[in-house]
Amino acid sequence: MSTYTPSVYDAEPIPAAARAEIEKLLGSGDLFRYTAPEDAPVALLEREFADLLGAKYALAVSSCSAALFLSLKALNLPRDARVLIPAFTFAAVPSSVIHADCVPVLCEVGENYRVDMADFEARLDDNIQAVIISHMRGHTSDMDAIMALCDARDIPVIEDAAHSLGTTWHGRNIGTIGRIGCFSFQSYKLVNAGEGGILVTDDADLLAQTVIMSGAYEHNWRKHGAIDEALEAAFARWQNHLPLYNLRLGNLSAAVIRPQLPLVAERVTKGRANHDYVAAQLEQSPWFTVPDKLAPEERAPDSIQFNLVNMSDEDTRAFADAAATRGIKVQVFGMSTDNARAFWNWKFIKGEPPVLPKTRAMLMRACDARLPARLTREQLDVVVEALLEAVNEVKGAPALKAG
Ligand SMILES: *Cc1c(COP(=O)(O)O)cnc(C)c1O
Repeated sequence: MSTYTPSVYDAEPIPAAARAEIEKLLGSGDLFRYTAPEDAPVALLEREFADLLGAKYALAVSSCSAALFLSLKALNLPRDARVLIPAFTFAAVPSSVIHADCVPVLCEVGENYRVDMADFEARLDDNIQAVIISHMRGHTSDMDAIMALCDARDIPVIEDAAHSLGTTWHGRNIGTIGRIGCFSFQSYKLVNAGEGGILVTDDADLLAQTVIMSGAYEHNWRKHGAIDEALEAAFARWQNHLPLYNLRLGNLSAAVIRPQLPLVAERVTKGRANHDYVAAQLEQSPWFTVPDKLAPEERAPDSIQFNLVNMSDEDTRAFADAAATRGIKVQVFGMSTDNARAFWNWKFIKGEPPVLPKTRAMLMRACDARLPARLTREQLDVVVEALLEAVNEVKGAPALKAG
């Protein structure tokens, strides 16, 4: 059977259109974004990405982590400022907070993988000076409630949209709701450049700061495409006042990314259809539940998350092993040693790990399987069959769910 099992970890080929541009760059050696006076591939990417998202400005950098770090720095928070983040996220998020000399404060995430709003509100006290909402695995938290609470207290919101390219909330692109949105071009995201990130914002002052800190020394900010009046003033204000962290993106990466942008819409449609097809079949088993999306949200999944129902730790491990035997790797976030998405492993945060029973319970039963947009119906059927066989092997073949 495993010969027919799709390899969900394989990447997709880069569109052929990238080759001509890469050849040109190799021929000229023009790999640095600031060599050409204008229209460098990185600057063109920024314009195209901002237009795609409906944002005013974009800055391409070396990773989403770099984008998160620069966003926090641009908020000019005092040392040891407390930044509220969801307890279900990738270790890169609390790391960016530490890197910016701030203190991460974790809030509970429910079994639907979204921020627990009661806990969020309770923790959003006068000591919180910024919020990062991590839309983990592209699951959107209640942005209406989050923005209302944060706007009322004048607390800036950064969106970690690393895995949310193409996701919308009331028809608006995720990443454009908070003050800044950060995206990733790492290979396991919708657009693959190996490494890379980008931030979007409508705020000229924030953009100017992040541009300079990303490594636009001297007047290289002039090479960032059209500079409007607000930006010109902001660059003048910050010139020579900010340290340079040199987190730039190179032209080769931009050449790999740009031809993928027109494919985003198709990957989103296909990924969503694949996800919903698999979700509907997993839902038939009494041992699985796939949490619903929130009503204002249209998702752009390239993986599926589901929770195990009425299963012990032992059952959970046996299920993951049985699925692996059938060629499907299922990650249970809280079960594998040193998992970077389990908050108790973030020992780089000072003090004892926080007590977060809801998030912990979710992480111990939440399963994660990649489901790239390129999979065919037949390949999806192989994935579904493997998961159902694996759980039935552990729990016995069930009577179907009532209703
Ligand atoms: C991938 C990811 C990141 C980190 O992105 P990099 O570009 O690798 O730094 C951060 N947050 C989430 C939710 C991610 O999925």
